[in-house]
Amino acid sequence: MRIAVLSLASCGGCQQALLQAAGEAGVEIAAMPILGREWSGESVDVLFVEGCVTSEHHLRLLEQARGRCGKLVALGTCACFGGPSGLARLGASSEELARGSSSVEPRPPADLVEFDVLVPRCPPPPSMLSQLLSTLSRGERPRSVYAESTVCSQCPRAFKGIKGFRLELSRDPSDVEEGACLLSQGVLCLGPLTLGGCGAPCPAAGVPCIGCGGLSAKLIAVRGLRPIDALASLLAAIGGSDRDSALRELEDSVPPHSTHLFTSCSRIALSKPGSRILPLLRRL
Ligand code: SF4
Ligand code: SF4
Ligand code: SF4
Repeated sequence: MRIAVLSLASCGGCQQALLQAAGEAGVEIAAMPILGREWSGESVDVLFVEGCVTSEHHLRLLEQARGRCGKLVALGTCACFGGPSGLARLGASSEELARGSSSVEPRPPADLVEFDVLVPRCPPPPSMLSQLLSTLSRGERPRSVYAESTVCSQCPRAFKGIKGFRLELSRDPSDVEEGACLLSQGVLCLGPLTLGGCGAPCPAAGVPCIGCGGLSAKLIAVRGLRPIDALASLLAAIGGSDRDSALRELEDSVPPHSTHLFTSCSRIALSKPGSRILPLLRRL
């Protein structure tokens, strides 16, 4: 099987994960920018698209990609939902975007063309990509490695109940109570809002989940449910307070648009056509 990577505005981290996975799966790499070979429009079995669209040139490349390759995979959260590359949209005006190197508002490729598979995370773990490559090499339809559950379902920390919380955005991992849920200790962990499947390495190490996997299946499926509202309801339920005070507490700590920064520039994450996103996530 021949694969290639089309890299848009990105950090290159997803390519590195894919490079490791491709070695394990024994697939041929026709083009990958970190190997010094750019994709120039040739047909391959699977084209991985990494990063956000931030220029007219990116738009043209993306148009070429659709229809020329056997399968099109959105590689990483930037390509699926905006990720870190999409954050420019939060602060920049259209005039500033026009003056800078970006000529169009950052958009995740998954908002613009149809993909066969979405692989969120920043970056996706090589083991997950290796499994995907092996499945595609055998000509099989990728099956789900994502539970519809959240990061909490794989987290080794036990919930203890919040008493009169004051939220902290982070805490020195050495000051975190061993084995206890971070939210229970008042540290803002996005595990309950975030798609599961990563194995929860961050909260396991005492670092709150920052939501790099994108929204949980429930958040995608329920139209109009904002991440910050879902978190306020959860905090109210576990803290024994009312939802409005929990929401005020949250809004004092985190602006509503930045609760889930990794999906902040995605129209599909905002408009949440669950019927479109969920099958793509499950097909891995
Ligand atoms: S998803 Fe993360 S690792 Fe991948 S290109 Fe974007 S910022 Fe880099
Ligand atoms: S630490 Fe975070 S991921 Fe773990 S159970 Fe608590 S909220 Fe969920
Ligand atoms: S725990 Fe959260 S931030 Fe860490 S890898 Fe998983 S989804 Fe990403």
